[in-house]
Amino acid sequence: MSFNTLLTPSSIPAQWTAAVDDERVPQAVLLAGATGAEILPLALKLIEYLQCEQRNSGTKETAGESCGTCDSCRSHRKLTHPDVHFTFPVVGTGVTSAKMLPQWREEILANPYLDHSAWLRVQTKDNKQGNINRDEVMRILHDVSLQRFTDGYKVVMIWGAEYLGDESNRLLKIIEEPPAKTLILLLTTRFERILPTITSRCRIYRLPPPQTERISNLLEQRGVAHDRALQLAYAADGDIGRAIASIAYQADEQTVDLASWLRECFSGKGAPITQSAAKLAALTREEQKHFLLNALRFVRELGVACAENPQPLRLAPSDAQVATKLAALVSWPQLTALADELNRLLAAVERNANGKIAFAATSIRIHHILARQRSDSHPMRRAS
Ligand SMILES: [Zn+2]
Repeated sequence: MSFNTLLTPSSIPAQWTAAVDDERVPQAVLLAGATGAEILPLALKLIEYLQCEQRNSGTKETAGESCGTCDSCRSHRKLTHPDVHFTFPVVGTGVTSAKMLPQWREEILANPYLDHSAWLRVQTKDNKQGNINRDEVMRILHDVSLQRFTDGYKVVMIWGAEYLGDESNRLLKIIEEPPAKTLILLLTTRFERILPTITSRCRIYRLPPPQTERISNLLEQRGVAHDRALQLAYAADGDIGRAIASIAYQADEQTVDLASWLRECFSGKGAPITQSAAKLAALTREEQKHFLLNALRFVRELGVACAENPQPLRLAPSDAQVATKLAALVSWPQLTALADELNRLLAAVERNANGKIAFAATSIRIHHILARQRSDSHPMRRAS
């Protein structure tokens, strides 16, 4: 199948298919990208091409395509290829990926942009750490020594390679001298956590985050109206998984609109502030976090709008209008204080604080921050 269905255009597919066509497949590949970038969908396509029985080779400029219909390609669609070993972080001692594979498959088929923390929350409700443990690494070492089921490549794909920690050193030998026709494919959203002993032995591909417009189109394909899709896409900040998750959050008319909330804080009238605090407190914790992360991003964009030579704002058009107006009224120290308040509230939400009180108290403090400028004789600009 074509690489064109990916949201993130990059030169990786063309480089990869050329390497496969020329039979110079690297032994180990490290595919890195930010959280919510398209690294897993891309990795699955790279493997599919490598293992396809009737692939269409690429040219110098364009990537090749897997056929999409051979036995290998068909088993890829279900993540059940017998020569692909999937490893991912799990919770608990003695648990390996094999035990969690059916559930992981189900989650990934439903959302290939799933992030690691969401996957860990599927396994545990009490924020336990996940890891890729020694038992799992020993199983990988055993599996690569076994016969292949097909004539093609055997692939060990490690989703969340940063969860290996020091265990990754046990993989050095197979990364350096893997059995014939074996590919070790590591995926990470935390490149800085991968040991240099590993990175120095891998071919490294870095995938950029997808463009906002592409995320917005994806949301529209999933039934979200154009304006809201654009708003959610900007709010997701390049994180496709977060954008998809936010579709399920309450629609605009039911929640408190960010711009109106800031206006209420600005005016400082008790009744609207209390009402909005109650509405925000009624949201789920994830929705509250989404709202606050979006507010923080809005403040960051306000900072951009306040700059001497403002860059185009990364906001949906309606939000950008509000930001441009507000930017004329606020100063740099006010924005910093505003961001501090929002961060404090975000931490309180994560600690499960009483929402009504926390949102109302923050609204009042934001009012004091924003009201500061009105007592001054000149509109404030960015402090030098
Ligand atoms: Zn095929």
